[in-house]
Amino acid sequence: MPFYIEPQSKIIAQFFPDQAGEYNQILESFGEFVEKEILPTAKTIDKQGTFPKENMDKIFKQGFTNIPYPENLEGLGLPYPIYVACMELVGKACASTAISLAIHGTVCDGLYQFGNKAQHERYLPDLITGRKLAAFGLTEAGAGSDARSMATKAEFDTSKGNWIINGSKMYITNASKADVYYVFARTAKGYAAILVPSDTHGFSHGANITKMGLRGSTLMELTFDNVSVPKENLVGIDGEGFEYAKKMLFGGRITIAALSVGIAQAALEKTIAYAKEREAFGKHLSDFEITRAKVADMMTEINAARLMTYYAALIKGRKHQDYGIEACEAKLYATEMALRVCNQAIQIHGGYGYTDDADVHRHWRDAKLMTIGEGTSEIMQIIIAQKAFE
Ligand SMILES: Cc1cc2nc3c(=O)[nH]c(=O)nc-3n(C[C@H](O)[C@H](O)[C@H](O)COP(=O)(O)OP(=O)(O)OC[C@H]3O[C@@H](n4cnc5c(N)ncnc54)[C@H](O)[C@@H]3O)c2cc1C
Repeated sequence: MPFYIEPQSKIIAQFFPDQAGEYNQILESFGEFVEKEILPTAKTIDKQGTFPKENMDKIFKQGFTNIPYPENLEGLGLPYPIYVACMELVGKACASTAISLAIHGTVCDGLYQFGNKAQHERYLPDLITGRKLAAFGLTEAGAGSDARSMATKAEFDTSKGNWIINGSKMYITNASKADVYYVFARTAKGYAAILVPSDTHGFSHGANITKMGLRGSTLMELTFDNVSVPKENLVGIDGEGFEYAKKMLFGGRITIAALSVGIAQAALEKTIAYAKEREAFGKHLSDFEITRAKVADMMTEINAARLMTYYAALIKGRKHQDYGIEACEAKLYATEMALRVCNQAIQIHGGYGYTDDADVHRHWRDAKLMTIGEGTSEIMQIIIAQKAFE
């Protein structure tokens, strides 16, 4: 089975009938690259918990995070669904690599949407091409889903023209590896988004927090002890920071949905191969109606989630259209779907599925975070229900 498959190419062809050949060719060759270069590393990255720097450098070189950005910023100027389809392929190959890239991509998006021209020129070419890496600092130990209750403060020092940041952030992906941190803090006017370069005095990170899945990505606490950055590091308008965080999360949720579809697709393909090979009661598992029905449900759910995800990406790519609800729906459905699919994948693998040799439980462990990060499933339900009852 090719890495870039028919259901993906069909959606892209429907979305972009005039460029279907060109876009599907790009995605097919990206799929071949990911299968050859990234997929073989995934199991070891999970086992050893090594940060996938080599993978990320290769992917950046191939052209990925620069897909949706204009050429004057070293972007490729391609539609957002192409980026999201690539994210699915990386998620299918190695979720640890994909989550680091997804968070980095959320920051690129936030800088592009809310940064000024000087910030675009200073940061974006390096970030979208991967010469530099970014992290997103919103969550705190006492403020996760309820991010507005954050305690980290930024005060403007009028005498020096600097922002002084004090506080801490928790569970930050890419911590210690990132060159720049997009940090949210309370200010006298509400909330602000401020860029903190990694070498700023007073800024530090804790030890890596080990976790059940996505073991290659880093996860750390950040501490800000009288961190001083120039006024030019404020992104957009002081007081609007929380709105920026919300909008960045909407975009991020589409990429988390794509990553979940990729993980589920990997689990499905391993399951189909195993079911064709494993024998019980004188038959292959793939001959049992119950197995076939389970696989049919897995495939249907993956395709439903993919359609929702690419659709949300299509709307996001059309400037000035609201895509928040579609992004939340895609995330809610795709992330919970990935758990169901990975659970069935382990079940169809039987005892072997529970072992490290089979490797299929890695997909379940990786998928679990997707229902928590960038807004939990319950927070997605709250946002969607608000729309339903408005
Ligand atoms: C691997 C990993 C990577 C992460 N990366 C980042 C990152 O890069 N940057 C960043 O800023 N954060 C990051 N996070 C943090 C993540 O976004 C938060 O963990 C998440 O938003 C949930 O917050 P919390 O952990 O404080 O859970 P809580 O907010 O304490 O929630 C606990 C439970 O209560 C539920 N709950 C909360 N409020 C309600 C409500 N009103 N109604 C019903 N149920 C509710 C939640 O859904 C959840 O099930 C990461 C977390 C992990 C584990």
